[in-house]
Amino acid sequence: MQAWVVDQPGPVDGRRAPLVRDERPVPEPGPGEVRVRVRACGVCRTDLHLAEGDLLPRRPRVTPGHEVVGVVDRLGPGSTRWSEGDRIGVPWLAHTCGTCRFCVSGRENLCLRPRFTGWDLDGGYAPYTVVDEAYAYALPDVFDDVEAAPLLCAGIIGYRALLRANLPEGGRLGIYGFGGSAHLTAQVALAQGARVHVMTRSTEAQQLALQLGVASAGGADATPPEPLDSAILFAPVGTLVPPALAALDRGGTLAVAGIYLSDIPSLNYQEHLFEERSLQSVTANTRRDGEEFLAEAARIGIRVSAVPYPVDQADVALQDLRHDRINGAGVLVF
Ligand SMILES: [Zn+2]
Ligand SMILES: [Zn+2]
Repeated sequence: MQAWVVDQPGPVDGRRAPLVRDERPVPEPGPGEVRVRVRACGVCRTDLHLAEGDLLPRRPRVTPGHEVVGVVDRLGPGSTRWSEGDRIGVPWLAHTCGTCRFCVSGRENLCLRPRFTGWDLDGGYAPYTVVDEAYAYALPDVFDDVEAAPLLCAGIIGYRALLRANLPEGGRLGIYGFGGSAHLTAQVALAQGARVHVMTRSTEAQQLALQLGVASAGGADATPPEPLDSAILFAPVGTLVPPALAALDRGGTLAVAGIYLSDIPSLNYQEHLFEERSLQSVTANTRRDGEEFLAEAARIGIRVSAVPYPVDQADVALQDLRHDRINGAGVLVF
């Protein structure tokens, strides 16, 4: 099969493209695994960080892609959870040890020996992938393949970020950056009765936010029209941390959603942290986060703004993501 792989990490629009195609054998599922024939795979900012070298590769020439929607086409030995023909989702969290102090206390997102799809293991930028059956998700029928793909990381991680941001009932939420993850998270918050303010430089993203029902949309580091109980930073831009902290009301929380953030400038204690403001990070997710989010997404009828790309244009999709040319979430289709 033809698989995309990260060769030499570097700028996606540089002279030497980091994402190249490679001929690979179709993978065989091992014990407890299933093989998935891929029908759609979301393009996540993490794929871009991996291609550009912001995230160090954990395996040479890995196939990225961790928002995989496909159909089970072969069961590995002893695999019983799924049947051939089932539509399933393959997410970022591919494996946890089950025995470390974090796994045994319900915090498998902090596992000391985790494996991730499209980083440690080959992912969905290829016609076939394999997954440990215990880490795949059933997908609500209300979402087609392209709509379901961004739910699997953008949606789930955004949901965890919202939990980490401690949004009170009917609270005021600020969202910094408005792409694939943020536009899904905003809808969950709105369904919970929050008043949402969006800060993003893209005017198209501001329009999308307003269409989804947010109270205001302004520039990337604009001051929201009222103090915030909670904020989530989706843009991987550390210079936005001080203005986002300054926008919090007393006792408010800022959660940083991404796996990568450029350096944070120095903070001023009085202006940014005093009055019991908190700064939180978000690390991966538990399977429970994923199950909860997918059920909630179906219940509230989340609208997915997806931009499809033929799979042979995965490199173009990453360039478009790099330059904020995707309004919503990019999805590779097979
Ligand atoms: Zn563990
Ligand atoms: Zn992701």
